[in-house]
Amino acid sequence: MANDDLPVPEPKEIDEKLSIQLRHLAEDAVLRGDPYGAEKCQNCLFYMNVDEKISYCWHPKLRILVGAQWWCQWWEAMPAEMERG
Ligand code: SF4
Repeated sequence: MANDDLPVPEPKEIDEKLSIQLRHLAEDAVLRGDPYGAEKCQNCLFYMNVDEKISYCWHPKLRILVGAQWWCQWWEAMPAEMERG
């Protein structure tokens, strides 16, 4: 519920800073919001929980939340014994 007396929330300095940091991180990783062919975060070795649509990426250069359908240049296939149907 919006209240006309309250100021509209705006991003703070910390948000601008984090936004820039994360943008650089994403650019370094060539991170995109779509799969690259059959490659996507959900079937990448570094995607923490393959059952979730959003999960933690534990690649040492990222360590952020990513979407199951995203992709980056550091995508790596899971060892066969880890793959799930
Ligand atoms: S390394 Fe890249 S492709 Fe793999 S989960 Fe992380 S962001 Fe996705």
